[in-house]
Amino acid sequence: ASTSSDSEASSAKGIENVVIIGSGPAGYTAAIYAARANLKPVVFEGYQVGGVPGGQLMTTTEVENFPGFPDGITGPDLMDRMRRQAERWGAELFQEDVEFLDVKTSPFTVQSSERKVKCYSIIFATGATAKRLKLPREDEFWSRGISACAICDGASPLFKRQVLAVVGGGDTATEEALYLTKYARHVHLLVRRNELRASKAMQDRVHNNPNITLHFNTEAVDIVSNNRGQMSGILLRKVDTGEESVLEAKGLFYGIGHTPNSQLLEGQVELDSSGYVIVEEGSARTSVEGVFAAGDVQDHEWRQAVTAAGSGCVAALSVERYLVGNN
Ligand code: FAD
Repeated sequence: ASTSSDSEASSAKGIENVVIIGSGPAGYTAAIYAARANLKPVVFEGYQVGGVPGGQLMTTTEVENFPGFPDGITGPDLMDRMRRQAERWGAELFQEDVEFLDVKTSPFTVQSSERKVKCYSIIFATGATAKRLKLPREDEFWSRGISACAICDGASPLFKRQVLAVVGGGDTATEEALYLTKYARHVHLLVRRNELRASKAMQDRVHNNPNITLHFNTEAVDIVSNNRGQMSGILLRKVDTGEESVLEAKGLFYGIGHTPNSQLLEGQVELDSSGYVIVEEGSARTSVEGVFAAGDVQDHEWRQAVTAAGSGCVAALSVERYLVGNN
């Protein structure tokens, strides 16, 4: 494989050093590092989230926990800055989705509807998508009452000291509910089944917390708003009797899991049972040499912008080492 110093030569042969797939914090951070290392990264930004590059943070307003922004920054502004930083150092960006990937033979093949690129290494940073309930008014209230991240949004003025609800019965939902009790006036946990699926330890913590009320056999049906168009409650339905009621709440948090965007790697790279890319502990290396993964697509636990960015950095540095080692 080529090295940073012969990246010109590799391009001349039509084989790129590294292709980065994804334009969230992981993809852009990897692009910044790879570009600064003179690897001339090619980035397929994709547009799957909201039809624009930038990933999940394009769907949020204020980001208050990304270091360096003491007054907060909007998600789109943060992602625009990362994008410009990657471009400034020479990353080549294509606003295209990768539709086909072959990492079974090296050089690898990456293909969008517009182009086919051969490369010696890949950083896979396609993120994850929070599972949604598909409530009728979900789009209207997304980020305006509905959230999929308690750590991100729990302390925001929209939710602080309010009555909130969390939907789900597994570890994610119980963790979200417990986390929200730090800020909320009260938290309702809406569980479709008649029991929690969460670990015994999490169940005990929920049962012992006076600020959480459990509602079994209960599903959220829609958002209810006041005459100013703000979220004021949740329409609930009892799964067993069909009985409907309105729960007064200013926020609804989805704790029903995420789907990692790893379909392109199925059958080529080792994934876990939920579809997350398996990387060697403490590294970005996947089961295929030369293929690295970063961000939410390989992280079912932390799912934060700063952890995604950190793993993008690790992936780019690993690529640099890999290319030098293979020269
Ligand atoms: P993503 O941001 O998911 O980006 C993945 C990228 O890959 C996207 O650009 C997508 O288009 C692209 N892609 C997917 N498939 C393809 C393909 N086939 N070809 C090309 N490109 C493809 N975290 C915080 O730290 N603080 C917050 O305040 C915060 N708020 C949040 C608010 C919301 C509403 C959401 C949903 C998440 C929030 N998060 C927050 C979590 C944070 O956004 C994620 O942890 C982070 O964006 C993960 O980064 P990533 O680079 O792994 O992937």
